[in-house]
Amino acid sequence: MKPNCNNCNEKLSIYRTDDFGPWLTIIIVGHIIIPLVLYIEQNYSPQLWLQAITWIPITILTVLYVLPISKSICLAILWSLRDK
Ligand SMILES: [Zn+2]
Repeated sequence: MKPNCNNCNEKLSIYRTDDFGPWLTIIIVGHIIIPLVLYIEQNYSPQLWLQAITWIPITILTVLYVLPISKSICLAILWSLRDK
């Protein structure tokens, strides 16, 4: 995370999001990937190796896409709850 906002120079390093971003990412990505995996398995039953080489990269890419958004959401919540 950048120590200061690029636009307004607000100090961001004082907000510690800790594990909330990764936790939120797991919740979001889990609710996207798991239903897809179950749907594909129940309707098409592809080979396990095919599922592994498909779902593992999709999951990793989805996590890499969602994690910065989750982290930003956490930071925005902490920023909105700050002492004014
Ligand atoms: Zn700003």
